[in-house]
Amino acid sequence: MKEKLFVMLLMGTILVGCQQENSTDKDQKEETPTVENNQQEETPSDQEKNDQQEEQNKAEEASTTEDKNVSDEEELKVDENGLLIVDNPKSVEVIVNKQRRLPDGYEPTDLVEPNVSFYAEEGDPKRQLRQIAATALEKLFEGAKADGLELVAVSGYRSYDRQKAIYENNVAQNGQEHADKYSARPGTSEHQTGLAMDVASAALVSVLEPSFIQTEEGQWLEEHAHEYGFIIRYPEGKDDITGYSYEPWHVRYVGKEIATEVYEQQTTLEEFFGLYP
Ligand SMILES: [Zn+2]
Repeated sequence: MKEKLFVMLLMGTILVGCQQENSTDKDQKEETPTVENNQQEETPSDQEKNDQQEEQNKAEEASTTEDKNVSDEEELKVDENGLLIVDNPKSVEVIVNKQRRLPDGYEPTDLVEPNVSFYAEEGDPKRQLRQIAATALEKLFEGAKADGLELVAVSGYRSYDRQKAIYENNVAQNGQEHADKYSARPGTSEHQTGLAMDVASAALVSVLEPSFIQTEEGQWLEEHAHEYGFIIRYPEGKDDITGYSYEPWHVRYVGKEIATEVYEQQTTLEEFFGLYP
């Protein structure tokens, strides 16, 4: 009777093992010394094996489903300029910045034009975003409209070649230091991911300046972007972390869950993923 009860108890702990790994493991160890029968002493070791197997399975599962920004950080390849080459360019969690660039020739395969107001002319590639971000942007603009505000999309996807031209032009006009502060080296622009859009107030369409935050649209964007899966990617006073001055107009799609956490913690993507010590 006692044996049967023990086996039942054991099966119970195996079944709930996933949810209560720590407590059952502890309970099991405390229970073992009270068992005198040899045969039963073997059983707990099976249980331990099961626990170990479960832990291993869980670890394997985690390494494939968890974001790679953190776990593979030290395994990333480094290019000739000392920049890390990200290995998850298609992830909505990808972090591209002045230290981390997209692989050579990366181009999203699902670029579309969201159905929103644009500043750029029809057919301009900067009207494009990846599908998931485009759908979210449409909802963001609808949300603003419902609150009586009109946003306009200024600049979304930017190819490697386009970024290269912008950067080299900036260097030629303003010098290397200025260029590195205000524009991204080719491969390091978040716009190349197809997940970022520069957004302006329809009334002040050409104003991509910090003063955008003083407009009602800028305020609205700061307060509501996360509800649609976007973050203000370069917040004020975080230049040292993001590598960029305040850009209240630059939103980046990361999905609602991460966007909400980043918003609530008033943090940056780098800090959120532990890439900033
Ligand atoms: Zn931007």
